[in-house]
Amino acid sequence: MVAPLKPTNVTQVDLTRLRGVGPRTAESLNNLGLFNLGDLFFHLPRSYQDRTRITPMGELRHGVEVLVEGEIQQSSVIRRKRPMLVASIHDGTGFLGLRFFHLFKGQPQAFAAGTQMRCFGEVRATPNGLEMIHPSYQRVTPGKAAQLPQHLTAVYPIGQGVRQADLQRYVLEALDWLAAGHLIIDDLIPQELLHQACAQAWNGQGASAPQLPDLASALRLIHQPRASDNIQAILDAKHPACQRLTMEELTAHYLAIRQMNQRRKQQQSPPLPDTQLAEQLRAQLPFGLTGAQQRVSHEVEYDLRRSHPTLRLVQGDVGSGKTVIAALAACQAAASGYQTAILAPTELLAEQHARTLGDWLKPLDQEVVWLSGSVKGKARNQALARIAAGASVVVGTHALIQSNVEFARLGLVVIDEQHRFGVGQRLALRTKGQQAEVHPHQLMLTATPIPRTLSMTLYAGIETSSIDQRPPGRQPIKTVAINGQRRGEVEARVAEACRAGRQAYWVCTLVEDNEEIPAQAAEKAFEQLQQQWSDIRVGLVHGKMKPADKERQMSAFRDGEIQLLVATTVIEVGVDVPNASLMIIENAERLGLAQLHQLRGRVGRGSEASSCVLLYQAPLSQTAQKRLDTLRNTDDGFKIAEMDLELRGPGELLGKRQTGLVQLRVADLTRDRDLLPVAEALGEALLHQAPMQAQALIHRWLGGNVAFAEA
Ligand code: ADP
Ligand code: MG
Repeated sequence: MVAPLKPTNVTQVDLTRLRGVGPRTAESLNNLGLFNLGDLFFHLPRSYQDRTRITPMGELRHGVEVLVEGEIQQSSVIRRKRPMLVASIHDGTGFLGLRFFHLFKGQPQAFAAGTQMRCFGEVRATPNGLEMIHPSYQRVTPGKAAQLPQHLTAVYPIGQGVRQADLQRYVLEALDWLAAGHLIIDDLIPQELLHQACAQAWNGQGASAPQLPDLASALRLIHQPRASDNIQAILDAKHPACQRLTMEELTAHYLAIRQMNQRRKQQQSPPLPDTQLAEQLRAQLPFGLTGAQQRVSHEVEYDLRRSHPTLRLVQGDVGSGKTVIAALAACQAAASGYQTAILAPTELLAEQHARTLGDWLKPLDQEVVWLSGSVKGKARNQALARIAAGASVVVGTHALIQSNVEFARLGLVVIDEQHRFGVGQRLALRTKGQQAEVHPHQLMLTATPIPRTLSMTLYAGIETSSIDQRPPGRQPIKTVAINGQRRGEVEARVAEACRAGRQAYWVCTLVEDNEEIPAQAAEKAFEQLQQQWSDIRVGLVHGKMKPADKERQMSAFRDGEIQLLVATTVIEVGVDVPNASLMIIENAERLGLAQLHQLRGRVGRGSEASSCVLLYQAPLSQTAQKRLDTLRNTDDGFKIAEMDLELRGPGELLGKRQTGLVQLRVADLTRDRDLLPVAEALGEALLHQAPMQAQALIHRWLGGNVAFAEA
């Protein structure tokens, strides 16, 4: 690389300026998401190797990764199906075996006895003693040994066409350029603001703030730590240098979300002011709204009157009664001349919503149309025609997003169980209603509450409502965990309950990581239970069944014709049969906490006392034990969500799908949750004192993804 005369910004230096990088290598690097030297700096190591010191062979143990140096004592090529090179090396303190399964030309000669050699690799205990398999090696001339590196060697994520050693070399070259002052990397966060924000947030928590380094120092330390640095802290991302980067990323996200919310406030939506129909519905409901439902429905009502798009998340535990909130909002839209689309994650749930809303709205002369992937042919064309003609409410699965569904005047989109939808799907539905820059209002319903620590930053600006009260007369669900060996006793209990006129679910879960298996397990359980009791009517639903069959079984269960329903987790979301009061979950240890809580929420919906039996296969892992304990001890969805976050981290819980955000690159929301308030304070300070930097920061971390994240 030829030094540019003036220091150049890292983002402006092409990868091909690095020694050894031609167009082909550049393309492979592009595939790793690396386009310029700036990207290279933000491509962080996944581990480190310590080649800074030589370990005496007498000190070697199984499992350590070390550098050794010694003299080859003997070597030989063993001819098997494939030739194999075995050698032994000694340094006066001990011996070590070396073994290579893939040979290349000249390699046996390189290991001639008497050669002085340095090898790096993992030591393994074998029947033949300690060995290194395929170590990397380097010949050393006695007396003129090459210097040992000063720093640990970073190991990077690599992809096809990129060799680890090459990538390491590229990063080192770029770091040299940075050190020599030929390159500059924009430090978008002034140290002073950073310190202020840290002090403010940390002192607020009663701790003293760590001093976070500037960006260039942080990057250098992460790519080239010394053996004396706290490597474990770096690997755990708890080192100040890592926190510096995490802080940047979280701040960038905070700023992006804040900006999107501001933009939304400038968009236009149809005001939906007419509440007459909603009043009528309220008067006709077979129940009175709970205080919490009343409060939330007022919040929504107020939102919909405005001419800017609502984006409200209604959180309410399973069974808290979210559907009626959607129905009231749909009435308000209809009375004001607009359509509502209600999106459910499964066909079973969409069907049930169509039925419930139909029952409620048809007496008010409102048309409810159902559309899912399984509605085909003539029925489908009819449904499409009615949607285009302005049917008040359209309930469906993601089939609603398909391009040939045309709404006449879409004013409101309700997304039930919103965490189950991808960002892209939500975006598509929102664009659908967009006519001449008019955006539909959006209401999201979720039973998986967002823990408060995370919602502060990630949902900043999204209005949230909580239905924190259950409908009256509900009895708490009694939950017990029982060893699967006692399945027989549990079966007897189920039979007894069914004979006494109660209804029950028998849920079969994943036996292995195979989509087919739960259906098979359910079929097996169904046959066994059905044969066992001739006087009890047993039904079966699983995801592999035809929608019409599924629906037949569900309605038979709803109408009480079936007493025991054997099912897979397809019934997890939303299914509502108030008379069912007993649930057995087989292999409960295999499910996550939130999922178990959702499943359990299928019972306890009527006035009858309900119970849930968690059948497990012993022995339980510690985490599984904790999950089952938590479930036995509480039915508070918020507590369960917090616990879920502790037990499995937000990777799954709050991944791309749930946050509506693009994936985080360095931050981890559980590990780094203490940094969230700091990022927020820092974001605000940047906006006021360095708005240009704030923009550049968003660009650095979210780049072209900002528009996508807006869904
Ligand atoms: P979820 O919040 O899980 O979606 P649903 O909307 O399905 O809950 O409501 C659960 C059950 O409670 C339904 O049968 C519904 O009709 C009933 N329900 C909702 N609100 C009330 C209320 N205020 N009083 C009595 N029953 C109610
Ligand atoms: Mg629901």
